[in-house]
Amino acid sequence: MKICMNGRLVPESAAKISVFDHGLLYGDGVFEGIRSYNGRVFALDEHIDRLYRSAKAIALEIPISKQQITKDVIRTCKANKTMNGYIRLVVTRGVGTLGLNPFICKTPQIIIIAAKIQLYPKKLYDTGLKVITAGTIRNHSEACSPSLKSLNYLNNVLGKIEAINAGCIEAIMLNQQGFVSEATGDNIFAVTNGCLRTPPTHAGILDGITRKVVMELATQNGYEVAEETLMRYDLYTADEVFLTGTAAEVIAVVDIDRRKIGAGQPGIITKKLAKQFTAYARSVGTPIK
Ligand code: PMP
Repeated sequence: MKICMNGRLVPESAAKISVFDHGLLYGDGVFEGIRSYNGRVFALDEHIDRLYRSAKAIALEIPISKQQITKDVIRTCKANKTMNGYIRLVVTRGVGTLGLNPFICKTPQIIIIAAKIQLYPKKLYDTGLKVITAGTIRNHSEACSPSLKSLNYLNNVLGKIEAINAGCIEAIMLNQQGFVSEATGDNIFAVTNGCLRTPPTHAGILDGITRKVVMELATQNGYEVAEETLMRYDLYTADEVFLTGTAAEVIAVVDIDRRKIGAGQPGIITKKLAKQFTAYARSVGTPIK
């Protein structure tokens, strides 16, 4: 595998980062996860825009243009023949001292990995997920904002640990007010009486790119879509619940905290939107050439 390090394609074995990089020492950096389907990169501009927004929010100046980073992503996919894959774009603060001060880190490291991902096993797309709500709350928006896709994912990792320890694959995280925010790496939707509801960004969520596409598809299908504060009660009593994300795409949730959701199997609207999303994502995007 060839990794793109600061614009240079190098063998995986040579793709190394300093132990003094603040990305490692403090989780000080930002990232994106992007998919390629059928030789095209899906929603590349949206991911690159979010990367630059995340960087801006942590006062990290990415030293190259969006156009250049776009070219580098395509070049890395081409070099690795990543026609159907998963691209991880990482920008670290760069090398500093053992102190926190980010402003002495002069050279952000820009890393592009074009590989594969299988977030959830294939069969769970037919059966749906059993999840818990985690005791660990999602980051407070004024601490490390969930809107910010930073390298500090420990909050999400703690949620994931709870899920796995409870025998589940995923956890839903609540915010400091006890309202539903999102899953550890996906956004969440509840469907009740044909209406889709998803927490607003101010509930402390990542403004998901898949979430947005699914909201548009649902609207085109004539479903009502609302960004609304949700409580666990709303999830427990929904007809359908599903998650959205770049790696997950659209996946049903059929059990939350040992309560069966709807009929306990993926619902009709979830299945319809999953199918439409899959088809849409495979039909558009920036060509890898
Ligand atoms: N929430 C979190 C915490 C995430 O990490 C992600 C991305 N894996 C998402 C939601 C989904 O966002 P997107 O659809 O842009 O991948």
